[in-house]
Amino acid sequence: MTDHDKYVPGRKADPEKVIERYQELHNLEKTGREFGITRERVRQIVNRAGIDTSRIIKPKPEKEERFCKECGAPVNSSHALYCETHRKEKHKRRYRAIKADPEKYAHWRELLKKYDKRRKERERERTRDESMTA
Ligand SMILES: [Zn+2]
Repeated sequence: MTDHDKYVPGRKADPEKVIERYQELHNLEKTGREFGITRERVRQIVNRAGIDTSRIIKPKPEKEERFCKECGAPVNSSHALYCETHRKEKHKRRYRAIKADPEKYAHWRELLKKYDKRRKERERERTRDESMTA
């Protein structure tokens, strides 16, 4: 620790204490919070003392890769069960199944109409609100 480090104007925290605490916590955010300084400020102080902060950062745990249940291709979302192609096919299969059953199809059409009506009502309300505030 050199003396000139202690005399930087505007410095609130004692750098030696900051460094000491950082070496205990190994966390810029937490250290900064204790001294009321930003994590960036902690990083500057610690780095100036020759301590590399980048090495201590823990690597993020790797996300588990998902694969299409149908063909085994990797899927782009962690929630997706099927690849792009198979997802579409599944929707098509579902649509065909609904359409083949007249009762289901009628029910499905009713639902769509209801959603459509609600959506239009919401849109009407939004435009009315906007014209009132404008
Ligand atoms: Zn697939």
